[in-house]
Amino acid sequence: MQRVLFHSTIFGPIHSRRLGTSLGVNLSPDDGKVCSFDCLYCEAGFNAQGPGTTGLPPADAVIQRLEDKLRAMKAAGDPLDVITFSGNGEPTMHPDFETVIDGVLELRDRYYPEVKVSVLTNATRLDRPAVVHALQRVDNNILKLDSAVDATVQALDRPVGAYSVSNVIEQMKQFSGTGIIQTMFTRGTHNGIHVDNTTEEEISALIDAYKVIRPASIMIYGVDRTTPEPSMERVDSQWLRNIAQRITAATGIPVTTA
Ligand code: SF4
Repeated sequence: MQRVLFHSTIFGPIHSRRLGTSLGVNLSPDDGKVCSFDCLYCEAGFNAQGPGTTGLPPADAVIQRLEDKLRAMKAAGDPLDVITFSGNGEPTMHPDFETVIDGVLELRDRYYPEVKVSVLTNATRLDRPAVVHALQRVDNNILKLDSAVDATVQALDRPVGAYSVSNVIEQMKQFSGTGIIQTMFTRGTHNGIHVDNTTEEEISALIDAYKVIRPASIMIYGVDRTTPEPSMERVDSQWLRNIAQRITAATGIPVTTA
């Protein structure tokens, strides 16, 4: 079984296709996965691998480990573009997410004031004011919306709890003009069910959703690493660029591809 990628709370820096030189913050366990989605393409593997044994890192430990790393990088003159919350699951599931964000912003200001703080989130916790408040204070809140069709989200992202596209789109409007919507385009077959969010129906529904949310920008991308469902396909780069142009033409919102 494909297992989690990151075996520490602070990882990298790594080069990110989308973000540049990125120091990662993993608020999930070191040896397991905790997520409210179970995406067929997840680089951390399926949730079935379990949450591991180390538990979620306490907020004060996250801050201390990040400070140790930033201090060492600063002393070495290492470059950095962004501090990115990603890792082995969904960062907003951490019970002290807002406290962690407070601490990370303070460290950023002290050690690398020009660096951005980004959070990659699946947007399943936008019903919580503390999560929304924390996300609104970082530089890049990157909110996942892979499909505006409920059945496709169920098949591709496989929410662990209740999920309604219309509710999530409504909640995402809190990030109009500031948020970044991220959409992964792929197709494949899992347990005999074909999943494809690249169809005309899917693109049209997503464009309608982007128009309602009106994010500052949109990132669209394709599979780049091994996926736990091996049939998930990487879409053609030119196709992605064409879709990006179409979305911008329809919405007026800038779109990047990766
Ligand atoms: S939301 Fe992110 S971490 Fe969670 S299953 Fe999907 S890709 Fe993996």
